[in-house]
Amino acid sequence: MLSADGAAVGFNGVALGRSQVYGTVAEAVCVQSPRHRCPSTWCDCGFYCFHDADQARALACDEQYERSVLLEVLASGRYVSYELGLRYQRQTVRSVHLGRCRCGRTAAALDDVGGGIVGWRRLEAVCRECAGRRAVLSLTQLTRLAGVPVTVDEGAERSVLAPLAPLPVPDDGLPPDAEIPLLTAEVTLLQARLDEVQRRLQRLTGPS
Ligand SMILES: [Zn+2]
Ligand SMILES: [Zn+2]
Repeated sequence: MLSADGAAVGFNGVALGRSQVYGTVAEAVCVQSPRHRCPSTWCDCGFYCFHDADQARALACDEQYERSVLLEVLASGRYVSYELGLRYQRQTVRSVHLGRCRCGRTAAALDDVGGGIVGWRRLEAVCRECAGRRAVLSLTQLTRLAGVPVTVDEGAERSVLAPLAPLPVPDDGLPPDAEIPLLTAEVTLLQARLDEVQRRLQRLTGPS
């Protein structure tokens, strides 16, 4: 998320935390009751993390979460264990990993995709081609505002979405046999030029 004045970036929860935007270092707040401290054992509040990045990637297969970014976090303060990880009080984001553009190309910036909340625009990874001439937040700006390393899915490694790989690209556009006539034509052209140069040389150096 980018603040309305463009001076700060934040992150927005994927489930209960959808109404909250938090910074790189943040304390969990309960949206159901401000009277208890997070995480309460009888409430479902607090930050959630997975111990295993594969679990986060599995979650990102759900269309509700597929445009999410992957955050590497340091959890601290009070915590409660759940089946796949921790529910905890304080979070420090260590790195941000962006998925690919919707078109499949490697992300080059973040674009405003609408669906923001008061004071915050919602951004999404976008490639250079899809960004076109629109005003976007560059990865350099994102890194500076977030204060943590930002990496992008290059397509060779596993995506945030799924372990897909691009189709192999042929060496060049032409099958091997198609190259022979092309080479023959080039040799003929070179030969013709050489003959012309020899004729000129003879005219210059020959008996007058
Ligand atoms: Zn709560
Ligand atoms: Zn694109």
